[in-house]
Amino acid sequence: MHPQTPYLREWKKNNPEKVKKYSHTYNQKHADTILSYNRKRKRGILLSPDEATAQFIKQGCKCGMPLCGATEPGGVGTWHADHNPITHKFRSLLCARCNLHLGIYEKHKSKFESYLENNG
Ligand SMILES: [Zn+2]
Repeated sequence: MHPQTPYLREWKKNNPEKVKKYSHTYNQKHADTILSYNRKRKRGILLSPDEATAQFIKQGCKCGMPLCGATEPGGVGTWHADHNPITHKFRSLLCARCNLHLGIYEKHKSKFESYLENNG
């Protein structure tokens, strides 16, 4: 992320087409990343490239976990298509760290909750 210098703000105002083009390229790059994740995991295509791009934009081009805000996926460089393990309903695209933490939390939820309850 570049700092929002007055110069950059001015440039963006005077070059709306370039700003638009840049965001398109950015989203396209991430859509490819998401697709390659799906291929690697061999779970089939969870989201079509268009759906993945739409979802990524809907999330504000960042991790879907509230309070995370990562704009890069981290880990091996791919976004994780998180879904409910029981219903298989798609939830959001997560960064590697949130996906890992959520997986552990979801599996041991009651243990974490009883630990917090018993230890204040
Ligand atoms: Zn995250």
